[in-house]
Amino acid sequence: MRDYDVQGMPAGELDRTRRDLAASLALARPGSHIRAPIMAHISAIDAELAERASAPLRVCSCRFSTTDDAWFDGHLWEHPGHIERDLSRYQELAFVVVDRC
Ligand SMILES: [Zn+2]
Repeated sequence: MRDYDVQGMPAGELDRTRRDLAASLALARPGSHIRAPIMAHISAIDAELAERASAPLRVCSCRFSTTDDAWFDGHLWEHPGHIERDLSRYQELAFVVVDRC
């Protein structure tokens, strides 16, 4: 499933690529051999998007934020004065909000 390099792609590029693949799939004849690799690539993108959506958001003292651990750790390494913000009080608040729904 990870034959396609989707992990390093920015979110916007993932969305554009997925749309292009969906358009290509719509144009491919039923039973065409090109359908399988297109569908596999779409599945890889969907899996990557789902993984990113489930990852916790990390926020820096400079307000830089991402769900990508490697990117965030790289940011902290490049900016030694920055620190990761503690979001635990917001996570507790989110649980309270969810409980009330
Ligand atoms: Zn920062």
